Amino acid sequence: MRSTQLFTKTSKTAPADEVAKNAQLLIRAGYVHKEMAGVYAYLPLGLRVLENIKQIVREEMNGIQSQELIMTGLQRRELWETTGRWDDKVVDIWFKSKLKDGTDVGFGWSHEEPIVDMLKHHVESYKDVPMSVYQFQTKLRNETRAKSGIMRGREFVMKDMYSCSATAEQHEVFYQAAIEAYKRVYDRLGIGADTYVTFASGGAFTQFSHEFQTICDAGEDVIYLHREKNIALNEEVMDDENLAKLGLKREELEQVKTAEVGNIFNFGTQKSEAMDFAYTDENGEKKFVHLGSYGIGVTRVMGVIAEKLADDKGLVWPDNIAPFQVYIARLGTDEPVIAAADKLYDDLRTAGVEVLYDDRDARPGEKFADADLLGIPHRVVVSAKTVEQGCFEYKKRTESESSMLTVEKLKSVLTGQE
Ligand code: ATP
Ligand code: MG
Repeated sequence: MRSTQLFTKTSKTAPADEVAKNAQLLIRAGYVHKEMAGVYAYLPLGLRVLENIKQIVREEMNGIQSQELIMTGLQRRELWETTGRWDDKVVDIWFKSKLKDGTDVGFGWSHEEPIVDMLKHHVESYKDVPMSVYQFQTKLRNETRAKSGIMRGREFVMKDMYSCSATAEQHEVFYQAAIEAYKRVYDRLGIGADTYVTFASGGAFTQFSHEFQTICDAGEDVIYLHREKNIALNEEVMDDENLAKLGLKREELEQVKTAEVGNIFNFGTQKSEAMDFAYTDENGEKKFVHLGSYGIGVTRVMGVIAEKLADDKGLVWPDNIAPFQVYIARLGTDEPVIAAADKLYDDLRTAGVEVLYDDRDARPGEKFADADLLGIPHRVVVSAKTVEQGCFEYKKRTESESSMLTVEKLKSVLTGQE
C-alpha cells in the first residue's frame, strides 16, 4: 500500500485521558480510534494486525478439529435464567435492553449458554462426540475499570471455543490437546517464552482452571512462578494447601505481574445438567455431556504484544503479525529515485512481501519517525545515494545499524530465505 492512499495519519500526541502505553501508541500510529473509555475501533493498520492474530489462532483451533461458527450479539433472557446468570447480582457486567414489545434481551458478554443451547439441536448421540466449536466474537461487558487500553475493553474480541465429550476421559484428551494448541498460538505470536500455563481457581466442578498468563508490567494479575519447574499459580489460589499439592515451597517462587491472555475451564457435567444437554450412549441410556470452555483474548493479546515489544520510538511488531513487513522510505522526488522506489515496491509485492511504500513528499526525519512509530519490522531507504550505488539501504526495526544490499539480497532477506 502507498502511504498517500492510507487515510490514517500519525500523531505526536495521544488523547490526554489515555493512560495505557499500548493505546497511546496504537492511537498515535493510527491503528485504533478511541470511541470512548474501553471502546476502540480498529482502523486499517490495526485491523491487519488483528486479522493476522486471528489467522494464527484459527489455524491452531482448526488443527485440533474445532469448527468455526459465529453466534449472535443479542441474547435471550430465558436462556440465561436456566443457569441463574441473567441476574445482575450474579453477573455484574451485563448490558441489557428491550425489544419494542418489551421482551428483555442481553448483549453477549459470553456465549456459553447460547452455544450449549444451540448444540442441543445437533449433538444427540455418543457418535456425535467428541466435538468442538469456536468463534471470534465481539463481547460487550460493562466493566467498571477500563484503564489498560485495549487490554481491558468494554467491547473486545475474544476467541471462545467449547468442547463436548462423552466422558471425563474423553474430555481430558481434548483439554490437553487444547493446552498444546494454545502454547503453539502464543509461540507463534512471539510471546510463548513469557507465557505460563497457570493454576487458577476452578469454579464448582474442578479444583483448578488453567490460565495463560504473560509476563507484562501493564497486566492486572499477579502470579507466583517456579521457572525451572515451569509451574505457576495465580495469587488467588496461592495457599499452603495448594502449594503442598503442587509440591512447591513458597520461598522458591517468584512474584510477577502478568496479563491473562487466555483461560480454559472444565465444566464437567454441571452446565449440561442445568441446561439438560444430554446424549444417548451405546446402550441407549441418557448421559450428560462433559463440557469445556476455552478463551483467548484476541484484542488483549494485541495490546500485550504492543506493550511488551514497544521501545521509546514506538511500536515493534513481530514479522508474522505486522500489518506490513517492509516500510519503503523514498527520500526525494527526483525522477530516478521515484523510478527505483516504484520498481522496488512492485518487485517486493511480486515476491509476496507486504509493503507500505512511503511515497509522500515529506522530510526524511518525518519518514523515519513514522517507520519507527508504526513498528514495521523492516525498513528500506531509496535515495539519490542508494540509486547511485545501485543498492538499497536496509535496516531492521530493532537494530540501529543499516546495511547496503542489492535487490536480490534484499529479496532473499525479506522472503526469509536467509
Ligand atoms: P479477566 O480476569 O481479565 O477479567 P475473565 O476471567 O473474565 O478475564 P473470560 O471471560 O474467561 O475472562 O475471557 C476469556 C479471555 O478474554 C480472558 O482470558 C482475557 O484474555 C480476555 N478478556 C476478558 N475480559 C476482557 C476485557 N474486558 N477486555 C479484553 N479482553 C478481555
Ligand atoms: Mg480471569
